Amino acid sequence: MFKKILIANRGEIACRVIKTARRMGIATVAVYSDADRDALHVEMADEAVHIGPAPAADSYLAAEKIIAACKETGAQAVHPGYGFLSERASFCEALEAEGIIFIGPKPKAIRAMGDKIESKKFANAAKVSTVPGFLGVIEDGAHAERIAGEIGYPVMIKASAGGGGKGMRIAWDETEVRDGFERARSEAKNSFGDDRVFIEKYIVDPRHIEIQVLADAHGTTLYLGERECSIQRRNQKVVEEAPSPFLDAATRRAMGEQSVALAKAVDYQSAGTVEFIVDRERNFYFLEMNTRLQVEHPVTELITGIDLVEQMIRIAAGEKLALAQADIKLNGWAVESRLYAEDPYRNFLPSIGRLTRYRPPVEGKSGEAIVRNDTGVYEGAEISMYYDPMVAKLCTWAPTRLQAIDAMSDALDGFTVDGIEHNVPFLAALMRHPRWREGRLSTGFIAEEYPDGFAPMAPTDEEAAILARVSLSTHLVDAERRANHVDRLRPTMPARRDWVVKIGDAYHALTAGDAVAADWRPGQSVWRGEIDGRRLTAQLRPFANGLRIDWQGLSVRTRVFTPRLAELDALMPKKLPPDTSKMLLCPMPGLVVSIAVSEGQEVKAGETLAVVEAMKMENVLRAERDLTVGSIRAKPGESLAVDAVIMDFA
Ligand code: ADP
Ligand code: ADP
Ligand code: MG
Repeated sequence: MFKKILIANRGEIACRVIKTARRMGIATVAVYSDADRDALHVEMADEAVHIGPAPAADSYLAAEKIIAACKETGAQAVHPGYGFLSERASFCEALEAEGIIFIGPKPKAIRAMGDKIESKKFANAAKVSTVPGFLGVIEDGAHAERIAGEIGYPVMIKASAGGGGKGMRIAWDETEVRDGFERARSEAKNSFGDDRVFIEKYIVDPRHIEIQVLADAHGTTLYLGERECSIQRRNQKVVEEAPSPFLDAATRRAMGEQSVALAKAVDYQSAGTVEFIVDRERNFYFLEMNTRLQVEHPVTELITGIDLVEQMIRIAAGEKLALAQADIKLNGWAVESRLYAEDPYRNFLPSIGRLTRYRPPVEGKSGEAIVRNDTGVYEGAEISMYYDPMVAKLCTWAPTRLQAIDAMSDALDGFTVDGIEHNVPFLAALMRHPRWREGRLSTGFIAEEYPDGFAPMAPTDEEAAILARVSLSTHLVDAERRANHVDRLRPTMPARRDWVVKIGDAYHALTAGDAVAADWRPGQSVWRGEIDGRRLTAQLRPFANGLRIDWQGLSVRTRVFTPRLAELDALMPKKLPPDTSKMLLCPMPGLVVSIAVSEGQEVKAGETLAVVEAMKMENVLRAERDLTVGSIRAKPGESLAVDAVIMDFA
């Protein structure tokens, strides 16, 4: 076994690999860029080597610096995590040339599977069911049109070198194919430095289901069941689970056996994932193979009890797998939610900044459930613009799917993140979404269920009643403490029976008997208690004379009044939020690239108004309705704060 390994990655996955290595008694070396001097993975590792400036191209992607760090520290092997150098065959070869072991598959397998066209050819040869399509490079628009006609519409145009949900587009007819082909090709060239695109059938309303495989260097190849990743936003995974609520034993086995056949065909060693899409009739089609540890691997670990990182390390060290297919038992259910630094209320725009508060739920057993949180940050850490905006992967396990979902719901309710915008409210809303709970999924789920994006939800009457009781309960605890400690010298007020709690704009009449006992103390940001036999976890954020409560994706402002004060409050003039419907606001801090309209111009819905660059992405701001441009308040080249007015409308 290795004595020391280097982890050529950062963030949660570097921390996750370090944990297993430490448990196995292997010393660990972290690498870090300028932006990660104070990062958690640096602190967790036994040693750390600085490898350059923040941009990944100059640090985490600089193979020669990683190799130099191995030599400097005497690391015998490298775990690449996911992303960065994890699927670069040339990196494995460069390590091999130095006598350093790559903890992953051999370069030949990475090459064979790293290219979507090549991997489909391998899959066909291994008799794996693939998406119907053309396995060659498309030459030009006319060629694209002919091929699409043969396949039948709709089709998907994909970059052969694509990944991360990028470089693919759907075409429903000839014009879209011609257009889409040209754009896909130039996008592929720009994003992946490789302009080869191909066309395959677009499977309507599929599920994304993938098989985890594990293979050693001695001829044993196993499948560890599946993960379903149909909850996606723009072809990127958001929530994953294992097993899939859709597969029966026969389909699972057929998919597993085909995945093993494919892995064997490329002499695969290490952990890998074979991705499929599955249609309503449970026909499954190979998409691609990812020759690395997958982001969502924890859900497989939770239902199989197998540590995939440990297996990868053992396989790389030349050990034989100590498991046989018959040993792989799927136990219970696991769900993973990806916590992203993004604003769910503003079309999921990335958000950066310092985590002024970061309090994940407690890991480990919670009743019958298990909570696991894979993270690479801590309170006070910075989410920078340079890397992946993922903050944490929150996972829950329980004996059944609904129990695992409820455990996730509770864990999300107790997860406090302040300082950046994040998608916890969206994830919390997803967990209660009836269609998700029923397991009626497809990759179109989010687009279908949230066609206009995710908007703040209003509580139902029943929910408002629950929130009113939480608010009153904390108020009474606060009042009692104040009576005992702060206002000791004042005559005590008689215990009051009647109270009015304002939730948003509505008044709820309660009595002191509606308050519930909970072991909450003033100052605590998470409230846990039981209301009408239902356990609940809510987050509290005080504001002037009131309390904001976040629960299950709801966020409400509450205030507690005596009946008389409530009457007076109702007479107060209402402060209306400024009317921003006649303004174009900058949706994120950024740089104005261009203003596409002039004052007085009439614009149709959907037309471009301005382009703003943020986090190296150009964001096109479009007219939401037909309108006439009033005055323009920003100039190209100007950098704007969030909500700065770019222009107003007549
Ligand atoms: P990437 O390398 O970016 O992960 P994939 O080929 O794995 O690309 O596809 C990512 C996602 O795009 C899939 O999970 C699925 O939702 C969607 N997708 C890809 N190909 C098709 C297809 N032929 N039909 C329908 N959806 C597809
Ligand atoms: P269906 O999928 O058959 O339309 P659902 O009961 O899943 O039925 O959802 C009905 C609609 O209600 C959906 O279109 C969805 O947008 C909305 N919806 C349901 N639950 C939630 C929730 N928790 N948050 C936001 N919207 C929801
Ligand atoms: Mg994929």
